[in-house]
Amino acid sequence: MTQSRIALVTGASRGIGKAIALGLAERGFDLALNDIPKQKTSLENVAAEIAAMGRQAKCYFADVSSKSEVENMIGSIVNDLGTVHAVVNNAGILIASEVETLPEQAWDAVMDVNAKGTFLVIQAVLPLMKKQKYGRICNIASIGGKHGAPEQAHYSASKAAVMGFTRVLAQEVGPLGITANCICPGIIYTDMGRVNLDDPATRAIWQSRTAMARIGDPEDVAGPVAFFCSDDSAFVTGQTLNVDGGIVLS
Ligand code: NAP
Repeated sequence: MTQSRIALVTGASRGIGKAIALGLAERGFDLALNDIPKQKTSLENVAAEIAAMGRQAKCYFADVSSKSEVENMIGSIVNDLGTVHAVVNNAGILIASEVETLPEQAWDAVMDVNAKGTFLVIQAVLPLMKKQKYGRICNIASIGGKHGAPEQAHYSASKAAVMGFTRVLAQEVGPLGITANCICPGIIYTDMGRVNLDDPATRAIWQSRTAMARIGDPEDVAGPVAFFCSDDSAFVTGQTLNVDGGIVLS
């Protein structure tokens, strides 16, 4: 593509989503940035950083688990920016609880944001991508969706759902010039990642289980996501790439 490309990144106010947005801007994308309204200031700060890089960035406040909010958001993006070439479904939540005591609302909340949110955003952008016969979809799953850890059964289920969804989506949309892939981050230093890192003993265990002997930074995820959003990955679809410093090697 020679024209300026537009990427939508959900949950972009901080952590991995922010790093992905900045990484895409560095690589020439204009950005539609999403998060929930309570992150207004943080998201606007990310937009300002991107504007300072000479790229366009606009903020869209929507809960990805709400069909109407997602549809309104995509409508606004089309009005403002014309279309969407790449989508990164990054918004996610983690509520730690063992299965036996897991409140039903926590199961629903995690599935709603992580799994249904991904589906709703894709469903809303597909007509645009089909029309332009071009699209790059990158869904952020997790190594937790492959392995998982205690107190994260519902999170693991939601991320496994994202991977299964993406594999089938890739088959449906492949003939239309659209690719769909997943990234599985390992343990990354963010507000969410701290669940696994606050306790020094737990942090040391994760570090020792990682081939690269360090915890990941949000920026470590940005490059692989940019690959899936680019034409370098034009013939790569339905794949799930671990970005975990080699945790699964041990
Ligand atoms: P984070 O620091 O908690 O950031 C997630 C962002 O998504 C927050 O700004 C959050 O806002 C937003 N968000 C939550 N619910 C939303 C909704 N319904 N609609 C729109 N935005 C919403 O998390 P992170 O560590 O950067 O994680 C980003 C993604 O990577 C997630 O999908 C996560 O599951 C995945 N991941 C993270 C790790 C890790 O170690 N950090 C590992 C594997 C996978 P609020 O916080 O205000 O709700």
